[in-house]
Amino acid sequence: MNLCGVFVFFTVLTLSAVLCIGAETVTKTDNALLPYISLPISVYILDDRNGELSSTRTNEKLIEVFDKANLIWSQAGIKFEIKYIGRIVLPSNILKELTNGNYNPFLTGMDHEFQISNPSLLNAFYTSSIGQVNGIAARSNMFFVTDFPSVRHERVTAHEIGHLLGLGHAHRDTARLMYSGTNGTILTKEEIKTARNNAKHKLNTTYHQD
Ligand SMILES: [Zn+2]
Repeated sequence: MNLCGVFVFFTVLTLSAVLCIGAETVTKTDNALLPYISLPISVYILDDRNGELSSTRTNEKLIEVFDKANLIWSQAGIKFEIKYIGRIVLPSNILKELTNGNYNPFLTGMDHEFQISNPSLLNAFYTSSIGQVNGIAARSNMFFVTDFPSVRHERVTAHEIGHLLGLGHAHRDTARLMYSGTNGTILTKEEIKTARNNAKHKLNTTYHQD
């Protein structure tokens, strides 16, 4: 590289650096303008009464997953606070159906065949398997995640929470959080608005019921 080449190289390098710093500043300013919304979540690890289908997850690892999922959701100014974390022992037939992807026996058996301690505004269930998928959102306040997803752990959790906050699937851009089956993490401005509105609504509804 001659002297001119070196000069052009460094000019491009400096320009890129300035542009990068500029872009980052804008993002941070945007986030700073958002009042943070904090949503309580209860986290459950599902065990089998017979032991065979028990989840391999641990409290410590799941707390790490939530720390990382919170980083993804920080772009929307939303944070998930673990209010409870613990294990539930399920009747084997209910867990077997769940690991095959059928969560209906779980929903109907709840409060009858097994109890959920400390349910919260959002409830996350971690199970050894859930059929062929990484995660499933159910009703408006719960989701299930498999022990061995095809994408990053925090991404599955962050994606399923997106469904609970009213977001549907993205279809064109694999870099987006709501695209199915990728490690994308981006939320659009419209998605952030929808998620924040739904998060506020969930908080208001819960407090009024109390
Ligand atoms: Zn999905």
